[in-house]
Amino acid sequence: MSKNTQPHLGTMAVWAGEDEYLMQGATQVPVVHSVSFGYNDVDEWLDVALERKKGHIYGRNTNPTVHVFEEKLRLMEGAEAATSFATGMAAISNTLYTLLRPGDRVVSAKDTYGGTNVIFTEFLPRLNIDVALCDTTDFAAIEAEIAKGCNVVYLESPTNPTLKVMDLERLAKAGKAVGATIVVDNTFATPINQNPLALGADLVLHSATKFLGGHADALGGVVCGPKDLVKQIYHYREINGATLHPMAAYLMIRGMKTLHLRVRQQNESAQQIAEFLAVHPFVRSVYYPGLPSHTHHDIARKQMRGFGGVLSFELQGDFDTVRDFLPRLNYAHAAANLGSVETIAGPPATTSHVECTLEERQAMGIPETLIRYSVGIEDTADLIADLQQALDAVSR
Ligand SMILES: *Cc1c(COP(=O)(O)O)cnc(C)c1O
Repeated sequence: MSKNTQPHLGTMAVWAGEDEYLMQGATQVPVVHSVSFGYNDVDEWLDVALERKKGHIYGRNTNPTVHVFEEKLRLMEGAEAATSFATGMAAISNTLYTLLRPGDRVVSAKDTYGGTNVIFTEFLPRLNIDVALCDTTDFAAIEAEIAKGCNVVYLESPTNPTLKVMDLERLAKAGKAVGATIVVDNTFATPINQNPLALGADLVLHSATKFLGGHADALGGVVCGPKDLVKQIYHYREINGATLHPMAAYLMIRGMKTLHLRVRQQNESAQQIAEFLAVHPFVRSVYYPGLPSHTHHDIARKQMRGFGGVLSFELQGDFDTVRDFLPRLNYAHAAANLGSVETIAGPPATTSHVECTLEERQAMGIPETLIRYSVGIEDTADLIADLQQALDAVSR
């Protein structure tokens, strides 16, 4: 984008990062499936290989289509650099393994994404890396753990599935004070609703599989941050081989052209649905940062421009009620993902926290009748009517 003024996020979603690879007048980014890139001039080849000149050598390292996706995200997160991955978990694991050495220490929270939690509890301890997992919203306790010294502070906000909000600015500041690298998983918020780098984080990462792609048809991940750090993470990824596929990158680019419109609609619908559910007699509680009754609504207001498209709610009854309720929804896939154009609903017991026992879920504060509801872009009135008829039926 060779424009003079800094464009708004919606304009970036449509235009950013594309001009370099619009070939022969094409208005759309090509999907470059080529694994390798050939050179007749050996000196030019050498210049590209040694990064003295822009270009591509081999598809595991870089690819034009993949580069456009990275550029779009980089610009929308306001970062110096970005690198992409085959999945969101690859973004998370490659980042953590780049940053950490045996003997190091990480401070994070109990409510991180299920797969991330497995890295913390199963894989990092094997490498003699100490992991302190704190109560997600006990910010004073997290600060106290950070103050003991750590190399990485790993944050996520809002969290899955109970939509807890972490004070990113406050915790980033605590991390900075001990020289830690602050990493934030921004998957639930998207760059439309929240920019962690502006709140003091060093690195922001996404599962692009969710809202960025937005159509539940491609897996991907991305990390954005300062050049030197991102370069180290890129190096780890190119050798580990968790490369984003060019076709998936294309689907992300295409999906992101409507990111701001989708997220705007999802923010609006989620707010209305949360308000509807909050007063429904068959709903025990609703978890959504946009509700004034949310414990950290004030922090959400401070650090987010919108409260996101995911909410969760607890039904009266027991797991049999969930069994009865879910198939009654006409406009919701009963499925494990989130952030798509279609509404998706599911209980954490079968999705994000399937690895946990009933007791573990209870200890984590996840009720058995909790439903995670990822709002799609359908008309809000139809979604509310759909929830109404399903609730009426099971409460009878
Ligand atoms: C889905 C998800 C991930 C993992 O992403 P994949 O693309 O499934 O590997 C990480 N963090 C959050 C918050 C997620 O929702």
